[in-house]
Amino acid sequence: MAMLDEATIAREVAAARERGVDRDPREVLRWAHELLGEGLMMTTSFQKSGMIILDFVRRIAPSLPVYFLDTGFHFQESLLFAERVREAWKVNIILHRPKLYGDAFQAQHGKLYERDPDLCCHLNKVEPQRELLARYQGWITGVRRDQAATRETAEGIEVLEGAKLKIQPLAHWTRAQVDEYIHANAIPAHPLYELGYTSIGCQPCTQPCYDPSNERAGRWMGKGKTECGLHTFWKRSGTETGGAGPAGPAASADFVGKLPAAAKAEPPAGE
Ligand code: SF4
Repeated sequence: MAMLDEATIAREVAAARERGVDRDPREVLRWAHELLGEGLMMTTSFQKSGMIILDFVRRIAPSLPVYFLDTGFHFQESLLFAERVREAWKVNIILHRPKLYGDAFQAQHGKLYERDPDLCCHLNKVEPQRELLARYQGWITGVRRDQAATRETAEGIEVLEGAKLKIQPLAHWTRAQVDEYIHANAIPAHPLYELGYTSIGCQPCTQPCYDPSNERAGRWMGKGKTECGLHTFWKRSGTETGGAGPAGPAASADFVGKLPAAAKAEPPAGE
């Protein structure tokens, strides 16, 4: 599919921001869908913010591709919940896997998440996401400013390097607004919330935890890691904020050198 050039993206984004589109979750989704059409996709792990956006998406763009990055380490409950949502809402959910998946990954790397969780996330999340971003120009995510300090500069529309658009409809919503919408609209909830989890990722790296100031505190607990790299690897375009976006643990140049040759050369397979 044809991609819009950098100048067009910059012009459209400026006009949308001028109209305040980036502050209205439904409007920003309509705008991005109209602008990019089949060049737009969403990723989600079916947590609260993702479910709210999916509720908007199923009304605004019901056939939009919605990718679940299936690392091979997710809770069974997450996979079953994804299936339940697909059935109930008839949304276009697609499992997207890394090239080396499940038993094959474990055979080659063992418990990489214990030895080097940054590399494990890079192989199982960032690389599959890189393949998606080569195919699409726009990416919808559920990132919110109040989720963690690493996300406090998130915007409703961000321009990433390479003229890619990152759409974050709930960037400015608070956790209270999220809970209120979920309650008022009877949005289905991931079953692990009931067991004390406040953020849900891969099973080996996620624990139940309650920290009112940090809903992601149960992720990579005690490992000094707060992000998987999906929201830090791709920098904002230099024209966006007068500099790069928020700094992250997965600086691209550092990582590419650590990857096995096959992971660098070939796109992930299977969806
Ligand atoms: S969250 Fe843990 S298991 Fe999942 S990809 Fe990252 S390090 Fe690996």
